[in-house]
Amino acid sequence: MGKSSKDKRDAYYRLAKEQGWRARSAFKLLQLDEEFDLFSNVSRVVDLCAAPGSWSQVLSRVLIKGEKFGRSAWQDRDAKVRQQMLGVFPEAFTPEQRESIEKDTSSPGHDDAQSGAEATAAASRDVKIVSIDLQPISPLAGITTLRADITHPATVPLLLSALDPSYDPATAVGTQAQHPVDLVLSDGAPDVTGLHDLDIYVQSQLLFAALNLALCVLKPGGKFVAKIFRGRNVDILYAQLKIFFEKVVVAKPRSSRASSVEAFIVCLNFRPPAGFHASLEEPLGVGQRLDRLAREREMQLPIVAEATMQSSGRGTWDCSVASAPATTREGGITEVEVYDETNGNDKENGARWIAPFIACGDLSAFDSDASYKLPEDYVSLDPVQPPIAPPYKRALEIRAGLSKPPR
Ligand code: SAM
Repeated sequence: MGKSSKDKRDAYYRLAKEQGWRARSAFKLLQLDEEFDLFSNVSRVVDLCAAPGSWSQVLSRVLIKGEKFGRSAWQDRDAKVRQQMLGVFPEAFTPEQRESIEKDTSSPGHDDAQSGAEATAAASRDVKIVSIDLQPISPLAGITTLRADITHPATVPLLLSALDPSYDPATAVGTQAQHPVDLVLSDGAPDVTGLHDLDIYVQSQLLFAALNLALCVLKPGGKFVAKIFRGRNVDILYAQLKIFFEKVVVAKPRSSRASSVEAFIVCLNFRPPAGFHASLEEPLGVGQRLDRLAREREMQLPIVAEATMQSSGRGTWDCSVASAPATTREGGITEVEVYDETNGNDKENGARWIAPFIACGDLSAFDSDASYKLPEDYVSLDPVQPPIAPPYKRALEIRAGLSKPPR
C-alpha cells in the first residue's frame, strides 16, 4: 500500500504526521484522557512499551509543556464561549452565574494561544516521566528513556532510580520510596503472528508483566492503563484487576479500529489488599496468588476451568477445557484460564462481576475504519519518526549488501 493510499484509508495515520505525532497511537491516549481525565493530579508517570514514543510525546506536551488537549481544551473553549455570551447578553445570566463565569475565566488557560508564562509554569512543575521499551526511543523533551524488558525484575529498580536518583533499593523496601508512581501506561504488543488465540495469549502475558510492574511502583490511588486483546476469556482478567483497583473499565477509543480486538483496560484508584507485597520475583498470573487475594477481598473470581492449548494444525489453537475450580497450574501454557459459561454456580452466588465497556472519543472525531477523500493536490508527508532499530533493519542491510546473511 502506497503512502498516500494509507493516508486515505487511515485518517489517524495521516493526522499523526500532520500534527507531529510519531505514531497514530497518540490519538488513542488522547481519547482515553478525554474520557477518564488521566492526567489530572499526576506528576510521576511510567510509559511501558513506549517506542517509537507517541504516548510519551503526549505526556511531554501535556504534563511538561502544559499544552491542553481533549477534555481540558473543551473546558477552556466552553469557558471562553460563556465569557463571550456574558459580554453580549449579560441579562441572560443570574448574578451567581456571572460571578462563576468571571471567576472561571480569570483562572489561567483561557487564552486562544497558550501564553509563554503558562508553559514555563507547567515546565517548572515537578513532573518526572520514564519511558521504557526493548527498542531504542528517540529522545523527547523532559523524558527519561530506558531500553529494558518490562518482564525482567531488574527493570523495577532501574526505573525507580530514573525517577529519583537518590533511590536506594536497600533502604526503600516497604517504604513509600518504592511506590512513587501516579500513572502507569502500557501499550505493549508482541510481534503479531496472525494465529489469533496465540496472539491473545502472548499479549495477555505482556499485560500481566505490565500489571506486575505497576503493582511494584504505583502509589495508593494510582492509575493503570494497558492495551488488551479482547479474547474469549477476558472476564477473568477484569475480575483479577478489580482486586487491586476500585474502578476497572474497558475502553475502546474511536481511533482504535472497530475491526481490531484491541481495547484498553483503564484501572483507577489503586488500593492493594492489606499486606500485599508486589514482586516481579513472584509475579501474579503464576501459581495461586490471585485466587488467595480474591478470597481475602471476599470476591469470587469467575468459575474457571483449566485449559490446555494445542495447535490444531490448521493455523489455530484449540482450547480443551476441563471443568475445575479456579486455579492455575505451574509452568507452561497450561496457565491459561477459561471461564466456564455452562457452570451455573456463579449465577447462584450472584457474584460475577462484568467490567463496564465504554467507547471513547468525540463523535465528531474521524472514524478509524472509514476511508476519506483527500484534495487532489494533497502532499503525503513522511512519518515523523521512522523506527531507529526496527526488527527488519538487518534484512534491509543484507539486501543492500551491508551485512552478511546468517549461515
Ligand atoms: N505506545 C507506543 C507509541 O505510542 O509510540 C507504541 C507501542 S508499540 C504498539 C508496542 C511496543 O511494545 C513495541 O515498541 C515493542 O518493542 C514493545 N514491547 C514488546 N514487548 C516488550 C517488552 N517485553 N519490554 C519492553 N517493551 C516491549
